[in-house]
Amino acid sequence: MSGSALFDTYARAPLAFERGEGCWMTTDSGERYLDFGAGIAVNALGHAHPHLVAALTEQAGKLWHVSNLYEVPGQRRLGERLVASTFADRVFFTNSGAEAIEGAIKTARRYHFVNGHPERFGVITFEGAFHGRTLATIAAGGQQKYLEGFGPKAAGFDQVPFDDIDAVEKLIGPETAAIMLEPVQGEGGIRAFPTQSLKRLRELCDKHGLLLIFDEVQCGVGRTGKLFAYEWSGVTPDIMAVAKGIGGGFPMAAVLATEEAASAMTPGVHGTTFGGNPLAMAVGNAVLDVLLADGFLDDVARKALLMKQGLAAIADEFPDVIQEIRGAGLMLGVKCKVSNAAFNAALREHKLLAVPAGDNVVRLLPALTITDADIREGLDRIRAAAASMSTQHAAAS
Ligand SMILES: *Cc1c(COP(=O)(O)O)cnc(C)c1O
Repeated sequence: MSGSALFDTYARAPLAFERGEGCWMTTDSGERYLDFGAGIAVNALGHAHPHLVAALTEQAGKLWHVSNLYEVPGQRRLGERLVASTFADRVFFTNSGAEAIEGAIKTARRYHFVNGHPERFGVITFEGAFHGRTLATIAAGGQQKYLEGFGPKAAGFDQVPFDDIDAVEKLIGPETAAIMLEPVQGEGGIRAFPTQSLKRLRELCDKHGLLLIFDEVQCGVGRTGKLFAYEWSGVTPDIMAVAKGIGGGFPMAAVLATEEAASAMTPGVHGTTFGGNPLAMAVGNAVLDVLLADGFLDDVARKALLMKQGLAAIADEFPDVIQEIRGAGLMLGVKCKVSNAAFNAALREHKLLAVPAGDNVVRLLPALTITDADIREGLDRIRAAAASMSTQHAAAS
């Protein structure tokens, strides 16, 4: 936008929101939108969730920041709770997804270094991946459009086609440290790795002494109907990056690791100023209170089914607009026949917010707290948007 003081890095929609409640957001001119984007899977519990508001405001009156020079009780508590609910034994808190991925990569490299293999620094990733926008994470993501113009690609990242496990096996060499993937690719267009592939990757890592890193920045924190997406497969990683939903909208993220994988991360080796500050930890603990409550995740899975069935019916009705519905839980992708940007714009005209992704997909990522009524309202709007783009006007009316 010319005339703005801001870097021109975002193609923003001409909308400014003033407040939100649950799955609804209201613009500064009073228009209400149904939010099926949730800040790109960040607002896991919707907008202005009373429990999160209470946790943040209570902490805000006590202490905001102390630095990691001191104990942070909220970190200990959230760390223990994440450990109790996952494969992990150790947690390191960061501020963003990319920073968590950087921490995961550093943890893997340092592990090999301390175990006498400084030459092992290579990380194998998959086409379509998105791991963030720092210099190392654009190298890990391997997408030319994000690498271009930023100097030499950071060394130590090699990529294979999506879900090509044979190619991974061929690429493993004496310099390989880790294999990294999103169990369900987000930006890449909501593409899930089959359980069988995850099992083979685990076997390859065990056979070659590599670390398996899962990027659950987008697919984690209840998004797929389990606390973490890897639970569907039964395959556990050695290291995992978590972000987006974990703060419910407050910027925070974490690296989770097994005792062994984290063993080389000793005092002074890594750090962050803001990571794990008391405000973030208060909100993170409050998010977990809700997610871990009895029956919450089962209800996410039930609502996800409702939404997927509704979307499948719309896809059947407008095959000239929608090619397929895919994804897991409340991380759903509408693979479009029309341009996904145009379909996303049509959704917005029907006052529904969604998020475009790669592979001509539009992502639907509503808050996990969405009501059945809001799902039905959303489906009505999605149907109307599809109808507006369909040439089958008879069917659409
Ligand atoms: C969003 C995302 C990231 C990067 O997170 P930031 O907080 O934007 O740095 C990394 N990996 C995945 C899978 C993501 O969806």
